[in-house]
Amino acid sequence: MPGTELFGKEEKEQVMEVLETGILFRYNHDEQRKGIWKAKEFEKEFADYHGVKHCHMVCSGTAADAVSLAAVGVGAGDEVIVPPFTFIAPVEAVINCGAVPVFAEIDETLCLSAASIEAAITPKTKAVLLVHMVGAMAQIDEIVEVCNKHNIILIEDTAQALGGSFQGKMLGTFGKVACYSFDFFKLVTAGEGGAVITNDDQVYTTAHTWSDHGHSHEGNNRGAEEHAILGTNYRIGELHAAIGLAQFRKIDYMLERLRANKKVLKDYLKKFPQVTFRQVPDEAGDAATVLNFFLPSQEEARKACAELSAEGVAAAYWFDNNYHFIKNWNHIKDCKVAGPVGMQFLDKPQDYKNLDLPKSYDIIGRLVSVNMSITTTKEQLEAICKAFDKVLA
Ligand SMILES: *Cc1c(COP(=O)(O)O)cnc(C)c1O
Repeated sequence: MPGTELFGKEEKEQVMEVLETGILFRYNHDEQRKGIWKAKEFEKEFADYHGVKHCHMVCSGTAADAVSLAAVGVGAGDEVIVPPFTFIAPVEAVINCGAVPVFAEIDETLCLSAASIEAAITPKTKAVLLVHMVGAMAQIDEIVEVCNKHNIILIEDTAQALGGSFQGKMLGTFGKVACYSFDFFKLVTAGEGGAVITNDDQVYTTAHTWSDHGHSHEGNNRGAEEHAILGTNYRIGELHAAIGLAQFRKIDYMLERLRANKKVLKDYLKKFPQVTFRQVPDEAGDAATVLNFFLPSQEEARKACAELSAEGVAAAYWFDNNYHFIKNWNHIKDCKVAGPVGMQFLDKPQDYKNLDLPKSYDIIGRLVSVNMSITTTKEQLEAICKAFDKVLA
């Protein structure tokens, strides 16, 4: 798993700096913290990397999804277009903010397509929560165009494509706001953590105040701060921010290794006539955390994935997985919730139990994913190629 492969003295040093001051809280305590502001430092570097004005760190990627929705004003009664192939978090965030998810089809980019978004728009559509899935980008230029045409807010969930770009522009900078995760399984990990980035001053202000009980974050007296809006607590702590910062400083190396390893394996797979590849709209901007390819049928993909796993290859078959594809999301289809949510009361735009998404089912049914890692050796790459021969030839 990428980031975790590189834990070293840098992470330890960052954590120790925080522990030495004892200030684990990201705000205030200006004197005691002796100039150590890990969350702020991480925010500055993360924003600069993306070439945007603002970044706000939060406690998880799921929190970042929720903050993004709140910051652009999505709430009760709104519809938000979402993909059926995604880690489930953005869909949870939509439901938990009182809005209703509207599932649209993905295409061979493994992301929502502009055409499917356009077809799903109703007068209640407020936003699209686009997820750049498994390491690479959606056809983002076309999606921006559709959102602009219909005056719909574009939110990019870039948790799985950090470091990716499209025609030289960083993913996460195409919409009004974007969210990231630094959970244990992501490219850059803080253990737990998330980020929101934006160029919009108002979105940023709402994001940082809403995720900390409405605090304005002005001055050094927390008790005296005005509360412009009601909020909640999705704060990141200094220890997590410290680890995230050390990890993030390794991102260029991570991406370089992942891209090199993926190229070897992808080039090798080209010799099998039955293999086709996930469409990547700009290969140069591939974050390359995952190698994704299609086989002609569901049966072949499921079998190949099981056989590759048995050979020790980090293969995944998302179609049967409980958290990345809608097929097994019975708790959402049956609306099993802790307490009442908007989805139960508002006019449901879709029958979640009987969703008709033939294209997405066909594409994900044929998809095999192989997770890349940073520290894979030449010998290990050769062993994976041998496994490809054994399973696919
Ligand atoms: C991991 C992930 C999240 C959620 O992140 P957490 O930090 O685990 O809460 C959200 N969206 C996508 C696309 C993800 O892959």
